[in-house]
Amino acid sequence: MQQVEEGHNRYEFYISLASFIIFCTVASLLALHILRHPLSLIIATPLLILSLVLAMATADFASGIVHWFFDRYGCHTTPFFGTQYIFPFREHHLYPQKIAHHNFIITNGDTGILPSLMMGGYLLFEPIASSPPLNFFISSFIFSLGCFAAFTNQIHKWAYQSKPPPKWVRFLQRFRIILSPQHHSVHHRDPFDTYYCITTGWLNPLLRKVHFFVTLESLIFKIFSIKAGDYDLQVLKDIRPKRH
Ligand SMILES: [Zn+2]
Ligand SMILES: [Zn+2]
Repeated sequence: MQQVEEGHNRYEFYISLASFIIFCTVASLLALHILRHPLSLIIATPLLILSLVLAMATADFASGIVHWFFDRYGCHTTPFFGTQYIFPFREHHLYPQKIAHHNFIITNGDTGILPSLMMGGYLLFEPIASSPPLNFFISSFIFSLGCFAAFTNQIHKWAYQSKPPPKWVRFLQRFRIILSPQHHSVHHRDPFDTYYCITTGWLNPLLRKVHFFVTLESLIFKIFSIKAGDYDLQVLKDIRPKRH
C-alpha cells in the first residue's frame, strides 16, 4: 500500500484524518456551548483557570496510565491494540527521534478518538446541574481535558524536535507547563519503567515516589498472574518492514 511517510500507509493516514476532523467538530460544538454561558467575567475567569489546571493534571495522569499500559502489557501481535498502539509505543523506545518526523495528522489523529467520545457524550447527556457556575466549570473541564488529551502526542513530539519548536512552546516547556525534553528523558532510560506521564509531566515525581505503577503491576500479577514488561524490545527491530 502507498506510504504517505515512513511506516504509515494511506489507509492509516485517512483513519487519522477522519479522527482529527471528528475531534475538531465535537470540540467546536462544546466550545460554542461553553461560550453561551450566562456568567460574568469575574466569576467565569477563576472557574476557567481552575478547570484548566485540573484538566491538565487529569490529562497528564490519563497519559501516564495509557502509556504505562501499552509499554508494559501485550505485544505487537495483541489483537486490535497490537499494531495501532502497542507497537508504536515500544518502537518509540528503540527509535525515539522518529516521532519528530511524523506529520501533524499522523501525530494527532488517533489520539483524538477517545476525547471526541468523551466530549460528544458530555454534549449529548450533559447532566443539568442546578447552578450555572457548576455547569460552566464542568463544561470547561471536559473541554480542556479533551484538548490536552488529544494533543498529548504533539506535546510529546515537541520534546524531540531537533529543529526547535516555536518560541511559545519552548516557553511552556521551560516553565514545566507542558512536558519538557529534560523531564521526559527520565522515561527513556532502560528499562523504561518510570515517568510515563507525557502531557505536563507534573505527576511523574509523585507517582514514582509512591511506587504507583509498581504497585499496580504487582496487583495485576496477584489477580491475573500477568507479568508486566515481559517482552524483548530487540524483537521489534525486524517488525516494521512486515507491517505493510
Ligand atoms: Zn514508553
Ligand atoms: Zn518519548
